Amino acid sequence: MKYTGADPVMIDIDTNTWQMDLGLLEEFLQTHTEIREGFSFHKKLNRRISAIVPVHVLGNMCDMDQFIRIAQKYRLTIVEDSTEALGSKLRGKHAGTFGLFGTSSFNGNKIISTGGGGMILTNDEKLAAKAKHLTTQAKADPNEYYHDETGYNYRLVNILAAMGVAQMEQLDAFIKRKKVVAQMYKNELSFIEGFKTQEVIEGVEPNHWLFTAKVPEKEGLIAHLKSKGVEARSFWVPMNRLPMMTKDLYFTHNDISQDVYQACVSLPCSTSIKDDEVNQVIQFVKDFYSGL
Ligand SMILES: *Cc1c(COP(=O)(O)O)cnc(C)c1O
Repeated sequence: MKYTGADPVMIDIDTNTWQMDLGLLEEFLQTHTEIREGFSFHKKLNRRISAIVPVHVLGNMCDMDQFIRIAQKYRLTIVEDSTEALGSKLRGKHAGTFGLFGTSSFNGNKIISTGGGGMILTNDEKLAAKAKHLTTQAKADPNEYYHDETGYNYRLVNILAAMGVAQMEQLDAFIKRKKVVAQMYKNELSFIEGFKTQEVIEGVEPNHWLFTAKVPEKEGLIAHLKSKGVEARSFWVPMNRLPMMTKDLYFTHNDISQDVYQACVSLPCSTSIKDDEVNQVIQFVKDFYSGL
């Protein structure tokens, strides 16, 4: 987004779903923007707001019905960041297929991986061709080295693409396994006071990409698991707290993202994890809380 010269307006998340708070989104649009000549503008900054980016966090999905309604009302294009929700569906429809574009990363930590790179989804052939052009150096002639605009060298090379295709065939099995692991953690750890996972909206079948929960004494738990040779991770630092974003707008009432960031931990849930390894992690977590 920043590469294109655009600046983000960050909207805080919902306490229960940890997805963008759509009440806040609408409040922001209502109070700070107006529609002129068919486009949405930020009134004070006099800058156009072109698109909204629903990020389907942790493999769950945003409420796309609401997103679409809001996007239409305020004349915004939807570009979904569906990276974490590859294979997740809302009423049978895949994440990444609701907006004009969807995007997926195949980085090493994603549900399927090509080591790096990703894909863009769209139903619009013209835009697909344009995206292909821009990601392959904007070369306008198959023989001559003539570039008709500033492009990017963002191609997914053939060998990696082949790896991705092979993994794509296993996606259903990966999701099935992820679901079992998530259920094991949930069944065994939900008794912990203050333990809370993300709320899934009705109609969504999540891919359970990453098992993340709000827990008490997060730092202590991570240190305890580390001492047992288990890697548990903190949640991502909220974007509004990153140095290159601190000057951008962040719309919030209660800074829920900071609250969720501070309390959340991700537990091991790779598709290759064995049942007894999951049970071992569960035991370590239980040991930690019984020792408090
Ligand atoms: C991983 C991730 C990205 C970044 O993808 P890269 O290919 O690593 O640049 C973007 N958005 C979300 C939601 C992600 O999980």
